[in-house]
Amino acid sequence: MKVKILILAVATLLFVLSGCDASDSSPASFTRTEFALGTFVTVRIDGTSGKDANQALDGTFARLSEIELTASTKNHGSELSYVNQNAYERGITVSEELFFLLESGLFYSALTDGAFDITLGSVVELWGIGTDNARVPAPDELAEALENSGFENLLLSAENRTVRFLKEGLKIDLGALAKGYAADEMKRVLLENGVTSAVLNLGGDIITIGDKNGEDWLIGLADPLAPGESCAILRVSGLAVVTSGNYERYFMHEGARYHHVFDSQTGFPAESGVVSSTIITDSAMIADALSTAFFVMGIERAVEFAVSIPDTDYVLIDGGMNFMCSENINLEIIK
Ligand code: ADP
Ligand code: MG
Repeated sequence: MKVKILILAVATLLFVLSGCDASDSSPASFTRTEFALGTFVTVRIDGTSGKDANQALDGTFARLSEIELTASTKNHGSELSYVNQNAYERGITVSEELFFLLESGLFYSALTDGAFDITLGSVVELWGIGTDNARVPAPDELAEALENSGFENLLLSAENRTVRFLKEGLKIDLGALAKGYAADEMKRVLLENGVTSAVLNLGGDIITIGDKNGEDWLIGLADPLAPGESCAILRVSGLAVVTSGNYERYFMHEGARYHHVFDSQTGFPAESGVVSSTIITDSAMIADALSTAFFVMGIERAVEFAVSIPDTDYVLIDGGMNFMCSENINLEIIK
């Protein structure tokens, strides 16, 4: 039987509202967009300490290219792809950058009890969501992919920076971490280049530098039911805002929606009741990992878990468009 599968992907899930304002007459706003890590990456610089904004843009996008060569699973020539192909046979010594990402990924996998899990690569690959080969796997295939997952099967040795897999079919996927890390690194390069006001958007992972002419940046949260529109506005300065949603990347099959964030217990797209999970904190990498984790955990577990992590705010939305937010955020619900 030929199964017709419709693949839909909504690239931008957060909107920098002040960046879209047609009446905006900022004198010095430099914007550049490139495609990297499977998404459009836009950097908008609104202020520098007198240095050249174009040079800052060159530097920050060069850094992004480096990270893509390290951590992309889609690029078969990346360092991570090499590790995925070889780390069962023998321990592989990796770059400091990849080791940091793996260490951080393992840390958040354990901290969230596998709600976020970087070893789900075989499950991610099997479903193929976001590719031309997206499909619902057979139960035995899924059981095998799950058997080949689990962060307890990833061994890291800090002493000589080696990585080793305990399962032959294990694959690392940094799809829920690398964009956030890239955002942090791109921000660091901009700061080193004297940028005082900027906003970076990596396919919806947003990080800001400073404020915008003395006002907070306005970040629109995508409406999960109409992702081209905003359902709420967040006001932030200097922070990262990262969302995971069931409307971002998915395909439809027999009337059901299968999206790209998986529950490591079942191997199926997580159905926790949360349809949009946003984390607001300093580091976009941490926000990236936790937005995925909160999405998988569901509201009750996520809210309880959030108590244990300081300086981290959240906005969770369920299928009925009910909002559950931490206390300290400046959020205006507009729908
Ligand atoms: P996006 O990449 O759209 O911002 P996420 O940050 O939630 O969304 O990352 C989703 C990606 O992470 C998936 O495409 C997949 O590669 C990987 N992934 C899926 N489920 C999990 C999970 N439970 N833990 C860690 N990574 C996951
Ligand atoms: Mg994430």
